[in-house]
Amino acid sequence: MRVGVVGAGIAGLTAGYALSKQGIEVNLFERSDSITEFGAGITLSKNATILLRDLELFDSIAGSGFHPRKSFIRDYKNCSVLNSMELDDNFLTLDRRDLVEQLDLRFKEAQGNIHTNKEVTSISPSTGTLSFANHPDETYDLVLVCDGIRSSLRDSNFEGQEPRFTNYIAWRGMTQITQLPRFEDSDKVNVYYGPGSHWVHYPTGRDEMVNFVAVENNPRWSEESWKVEGFKTDFLESFEGWNDDLISMAMSSDRLYKWGIFERPLPKTLYNGRAILLGDAAHPMVPFLGQGGCLAIEDAYCLSSLINQVADLEEVLSIFDEMRNNRSRWIQKRSRLQGSFNHISNPLLIPIRNIFAKIFMKKSVQNLHSYNLNAELSLKLQARL
Ligand SMILES: Cc1cc2nc3c(=O)[nH]c(=O)nc-3n(C[C@H](O)[C@H](O)[C@H](O)COP(=O)(O)OP(=O)(O)OC[C@H]3O[C@@H](n4cnc5c(N)ncnc54)[C@H](O)[C@@H]3O)c2cc1C
Repeated sequence: MRVGVVGAGIAGLTAGYALSKQGIEVNLFERSDSITEFGAGITLSKNATILLRDLELFDSIAGSGFHPRKSFIRDYKNCSVLNSMELDDNFLTLDRRDLVEQLDLRFKEAQGNIHTNKEVTSISPSTGTLSFANHPDETYDLVLVCDGIRSSLRDSNFEGQEPRFTNYIAWRGMTQITQLPRFEDSDKVNVYYGPGSHWVHYPTGRDEMVNFVAVENNPRWSEESWKVEGFKTDFLESFEGWNDDLISMAMSSDRLYKWGIFERPLPKTLYNGRAILLGDAAHPMVPFLGQGGCLAIEDAYCLSSLINQVADLEEVLSIFDEMRNNRSRWIQKRSRLQGSFNHISNPLLIPIRNIFAKIFMKKSVQNLHSYNLNAELSLKLQARL
């Protein structure tokens, strides 16, 4: 079997690596002229990291990351703790650049082929043919469409709706660990609930840097791009009344980026002929459970395991579709609900929300992170026999 992959993000690189590791010939096409990521943090939870362990990727990735060991939910003003939970070795925070660098390295070590500066302009799902602006057509037995939330290949080959703006704007920045708020455990994962907004910050393990994301409800996104550099004065206006230490931390960042948060419903079916959607191309979601990248890893693992265990390609695609469509739909919905929960602004509802956070946070997070893709896969494969 020969596999063509479009897009060198988390989904494309992980899937490319997992298939190459099985000895399958993989050619990955990336439109940029290098394999890089935006300098920002990412969290990876157990549902994804147990798969990285299985793929023998975890140690090299964890080597450049950070184990925060604990997470806290706090009040936005006085930073008092609403709840906290322990995190084990399976929970990792890191800089996206390190994650993608490791995936790229390991893919190449596994004899995977990367072609940069190769934008795929169209695909033919029935034949598995890829067309490029600057390269002759290539034909594959299977094409993995991993071109991200703005997937143009999804537009033309799968039914489904356009990405829609969610009325959330995320402000992202990085600063030195010495700029963290001056209270105990500020160097763990800290989440703050404020009216109509929330923040998250954690160390990334790279150069003593901390990543922070501050999300506000804001129905206006007029920018052409989905990511632009924002003005500190606008940031201060949006987060007026927040704790002084948090504001100082954000102000110490060289740059603040404003990121419009978009979402896109899943198509009814994740494959069409020989083409299949993975990662954000399939199920972009609001990032409030930190699961978009984790699901991209789950997708990659699921597909490569099925290819390893099921001879018939049509059956591989059908089982993948059933498993991943259900799970991604559910996590997309839960992420949306988490956004509404985090951003409650009615003063009468805030104390009730906080009680819920106290009672249910651990259970809800554990439930999310304890998903075991291999267990579901075994059940599905047994059911076929
Ligand atoms: C503010 C924010 C915080 C987040 N935090 C977390 C978190 O903590 N944990 C987590 O798990 N997830 C998080 N996510 C989600 C996560 O970032 C995404 O789900 C993940 O990066 C998606 O990876 P991907 O490979 O599917 O797509 P992408 O990373 O978008 O990669 C797509 C690739 O395809 C290439 N490409 C596009 N079109 C073409 C073409 N036609 N031809 C060739 N190449 C092409 C692009 O250049 C790009 O390299 C967050 C998201 C946001 C916005």
